Amino acid sequence: MGIARTLIAAGALAAMPAAAPAQAEWPQAPGYYRMQLGDFRVTVLSDGSVERDLPSIMSQPDLVRTRYRAQHQALPARLSINCYLIDTGDHRILIDTGAGELFGAGIAGQLVANLRSAGYAPEDIDTILLTHIHGDHSGGLSIGGRPVFPAATVYVDGADPALWLNKAVEALAPEAQRATFEQSQKTVGPYVAAGRLKTFTAPAALFPGVRAIALRGHTPGQSGYIIESKGQHLLLWGDVIHSAEVQFEDPTVTIHYDVDPKAAAATRAAILAETAESGILVGGAHLSFPGLGHVVRNASGYSWAPRPWSSQP
Ligand SMILES: [Zn+2]
Repeated sequence: MGIARTLIAAGALAAMPAAAPAQAEWPQAPGYYRMQLGDFRVTVLSDGSVERDLPSIMSQPDLVRTRYRAQHQALPARLSINCYLIDTGDHRILIDTGAGELFGAGIAGQLVANLRSAGYAPEDIDTILLTHIHGDHSGGLSIGGRPVFPAATVYVDGADPALWLNKAVEALAPEAQRATFEQSQKTVGPYVAAGRLKTFTAPAALFPGVRAIALRGHTPGQSGYIIESKGQHLLLWGDVIHSAEVQFEDPTVTIHYDVDPKAAAATRAAILAETAESGILVGGAHLSFPGLGHVVRNASGYSWAPRPWSSQP
């Protein structure tokens, strides 16, 4: 018997708790993480995490199972939902809003609580940039049909509202996409009604130190945002990667949320090559919180090098 087996047999398994305590009685610590980028203050805000059975929703189920087993990771996989607040001094810009109430209580929808823990109120947010319209990114815009961020103007590439807020397209949409149309009406709709949704076509310069780049495929208007201050850069890339365990190593693996899987894979291949080459700091919506790190090229593909946690922002 090897030493690892001996250790497990000696009691590691016996010491494991029978079941995790209910979230309400033993909640996770507040999920926010601070980082200075030049003159800008960046706060990563957790909206929570969701479990997804990735083999049943990714294009290569056997490869997904093999990769998770090799990395000693459980399935269903636990995916973070990360949002990013950029305080430029002049603006408080929130990138993505999490799922709001769409995934049910206690799973996601923790953005506002974590925003308050970090010292901000929803009223403080003047600008929201959506990487794309999907329940786990735009769902937190409204709760109960009412805007959560009363002072914010929302920006998104025009190709996404042209799809998800279009009644004529919805009528012809496949069953699997119907939920996104309904959720988009419910959560983005109130901002459209108030005249507070503005569209752009990526690539576009939006504010001093903030520009959008096109990352089309996952949705037709998915954008990344490059934040720049005093020569320091951060790319917030939305859903380029859903599974770090699989898609850095093999960028061809797609997920059934991709509106155009072929284009999504091509975009992933291109942006992984660019980010590995430039070494830019990346923030990913579903990479393990706070989802900050660098892309590294290796012999067989790419790998993810998480930015070390720091007690000094
Ligand atoms: Zn997502």
